[in-house]
Amino acid sequence: METRVNAAKPSELKALLCAHGFSFKKSLGQNFLIDERVLARIVEASEAGPDDGALEIGPGAGVVTQRLAPRVKRLVAVEKDERLRPVLAQTLAGLDNVDIRFADVLEVDLAGLWSAFSGCARVTVVANLPYYVTTPILFHVLESRVRFDTMVIMVQREVADRLAAAPGSKTYGALTLAVRYWAEVETVCRVGPGAFLPPPEVESTVVRLRRRATPAVDVVDERTLFGVIRAAFATRRKTLLNALTTQLPLERAACLTALTEAGIAPQRRGETLSLEEFARLADAIARTSPADGGGGSGNHARGIY
Ligand code: SAM
Repeated sequence: METRVNAAKPSELKALLCAHGFSFKKSLGQNFLIDERVLARIVEASEAGPDDGALEIGPGAGVVTQRLAPRVKRLVAVEKDERLRPVLAQTLAGLDNVDIRFADVLEVDLAGLWSAFSGCARVTVVANLPYYVTTPILFHVLESRVRFDTMVIMVQREVADRLAAAPGSKTYGALTLAVRYWAEVETVCRVGPGAFLPPPEVESTVVRLRRRATPAVDVVDERTLFGVIRAAFATRRKTLLNALTTQLPLERAACLTALTEAGIAPQRRGETLSLEEFARLADAIARTSPADGGGGSGNHARGIY
């Protein structure tokens, strides 16, 4: 007989949280999903099957976990808030393939954690992310180079627009290009505030990333690519030549040579360049200035957003 609490049912969720004296922490982005239709879309979008593993980031009261765990071989969930331990013990009772780790996911060595998925055919990452740490968490997963197949994430609608943006549009930027480098992005569904308890102040979107087998473009030096992208978007309104000259440790003449070599008009603005054009430019800069490559120090993708 099933006695598990249904965490998506507001009355059951509220009673459970109340029984444990739990109060929502805004600082942890705690808006729990209570919409069955959205939950079904998230689980379906993960494409997870019985031979697969799943990493869930921020399980909250376990509403996604309850639905995903029975579909996969093994589920590891990383939750920062220890106060949710007794809540999760109840909502996940009897789900023996779930391993909850209480930690800040940004401090978790994901490559090490991945050993939990040995023997799994594919791995999916699922996260209804706290919006204030969406980008760092996204890049923590991407840059750790762990072999996930799909990543289904709930993000603020504005972030989803950036991820899907085309060159020349207002939302096209460093985040668009950095994520596109690693993954293909598609929108799964839009979600209104009423789908959460308590309702957030913003609209949300579920997005699916499919990790590419190899990055979208082949470059001599990844750091240079991200350094050039950062430089181009640091001053969106400047021409590329001016932006690169002011942002990179390169002489104007060297920037001009690199742009010419890459076949890119110096008066264009960075926001009009495709990822392929940025890659050509980064390679030309790396050839012009191999010692530094224009990347400078600390040019991880997350730093350019
Ligand atoms: N997945 C649940 C749902 O859909 O109802 C909860 C989503 S809630 C938007 C975000 C969850 O992430 C919260 O449970 C919060 O405590 C947790 N969280 C916040 N920052 C975190 C971090 N750095 N690492 C791990 N979990 C975090």
